Amino acid sequence: MNIDKIQIAALAGGVGGARMLDGFAALGMGDRLTAIVNTADDFSLWGLPISPDIDTVMYTLAGLANVHQGWGIAGDTRVTLDAIARYGEDPWFLLGDQDFATHILRGHRLAQGLSLSEVTAQLVISLGVQTRILPMTNDLVHTHIRTEDGWMDFQSYFVGRRHADHALEVRFDGIEDAESAPGVSEALIGADLILFCPSNPIVSVDPILSVAGVRKTISASTARKVCVSPIIGGQAVKGPAADMLHQAGYEVSALGVARWYGELVDVMVIDEKDAALADDIRALGHEVIVLQTLMGDRDDRARLATEILAAL
Ligand code: GDP
Repeated sequence: MNIDKIQIAALAGGVGGARMLDGFAALGMGDRLTAIVNTADDFSLWGLPISPDIDTVMYTLAGLANVHQGWGIAGDTRVTLDAIARYGEDPWFLLGDQDFATHILRGHRLAQGLSLSEVTAQLVISLGVQTRILPMTNDLVHTHIRTEDGWMDFQSYFVGRRHADHALEVRFDGIEDAESAPGVSEALIGADLILFCPSNPIVSVDPILSVAGVRKTISASTARKVCVSPIIGGQAVKGPAADMLHQAGYEVSALGVARWYGELVDVMVIDEKDAALADDIRALGHEVIVLQTLMGDRDDRARLATEILAAL
């Protein structure tokens, strides 16, 4: 694999995906990197269209992300949200003032007739990000989670109830009619490396794979298909991935992740803590790379990206 020319297509959700993408971008590969990002968590709040995963990826690659919070922009203020709360609205979904700017402009440009991929491209360019960030689809897809209290939309479960419920079942409303956004198929077909970012396999990567043609294109591709496990030492670094894997009947481990993706993935990148699982994962037919996969600052993300490329 010629590292200087390698084209990467990466499937990503929010935080874990954004960190991994940032590692490759930090190596100066941004212009050969296409992020295909989950939009099934997108929703509308006070008339504003919010794309949490796209924004997390975009802010992270722009060096703006609030790393402590895991969402939003570092140093942002919350004057607007407080003013909205003064009118009696429940500020259950936290948004910073600069975040509002993103959502206001997105809403304005969508209302002018641009697609989500066109608007995203404009925002990304304005922030000086070189990586192409593509929504998985321009069509509306909405994740719903079944808990013991019944079905609820993803953000009510994830933010509203802090993903405290067991996710008994997951469905992606609208997915049957969703077409992949412009550039998605081309990026997958042209890729030398298809990267399954360390994102939630069930609610971040699966919606992308479920968009018409995506799974088939990846299956047919001769690219190296590499998954960085989001599960380290039997736990998710953040979020509900562990419970979701368990509820779906998979072991909560890098081995469970390997089983979840099955033949779609050739290479599993697992953490040093999980080195003991390597043989079992190899027995499934995967190659295994063992690295320190918990990412810290940008240098550390770049370190992991470098080590992955070297191992490949
Ligand atoms: P979300 O939309 O913000 O939940 O973000 P993702 O879909 O990207 O999912 C978060 C997933 O990323 C979780 O399952 C975490 O375990 C995983 N994750 C976050 N940070 C890291 C990291 O530094 N290393 C690895 N290996 N996984 C991570």
